[in-house]
Amino acid sequence: ESFTTMNLSRQIMKGLTKLGFAQPTPIQARTIPLALLGKDICGGAQTGSGKTAAFLVPILERLLYRPKNTTVTRVLILCPTRELAIQCHNVSTKLAGFTDISTCLCVGGLSLKLQESELKLRPDVVIATPGRLIDHLRNSQSFHLDQIEILVMDEADRMLDDGFEDELTEIIKACPQKRQTMLFSATMTDNVDKLIRLSLQKPVRVQI
Ligand code: AMP
Repeated sequence: ESFTTMNLSRQIMKGLTKLGFAQPTPIQARTIPLALLGKDICGGAQTGSGKTAAFLVPILERLLYRPKNTTVTRVLILCPTRELAIQCHNVSTKLAGFTDISTCLCVGGLSLKLQESELKLRPDVVIATPGRLIDHLRNSQSFHLDQIEILVMDEADRMLDDGFEDELTEIIKACPQKRQTMLFSATMTDNVDKLIRLSLQKPVRVQI
């Protein structure tokens, strides 16, 4: 499978070219067509497998297919660390560089006030660490997850290892029931399994 047979829009193809991605990695080849159909995905994949684009490509495509007039945040991507969130944000910015899709980074170490004003603009995509996102949800009346259409939990095992189970549960419950969810994890522990059962509906399992 190549990117050209996936029926991607011209803008996203240009973004892939800009990133220098000519051929999909195995996880991208398996995940992108399924995610484009709106399926929940449970992916067993490590850092380095290309999983960032595996979820970002179908997310951006789906945002383009179904434009909205109102400005709401439609996608939430959770990453275990600030560094991983920054990497994800960099890929997203390049991939969406030929679209009008907006992305906001919501991690610790950046000013809460500045982030709050960015979130008020309702960026299409928010890329966050669970701790910082919870700060915003609890302390500000101005940011909600009630319009989220797609939720991604990247490196779910690491987020659980870091003790974010309660935060993840709170975040999942704040999202609408009717949504697409993608969860990626290098290992499948009991805790990951519990999170899968809480958050995914009839997931397709993609193992690389
Ligand atoms: P990730 O697992 O998403 O962090 O990606 C690991 C590395 O592979 C990153 O440096 C990406 O830029 C690179 N990469 C991801 N997908 C592709 C692709 N289709 N072609 C070439 N490089 C890629």
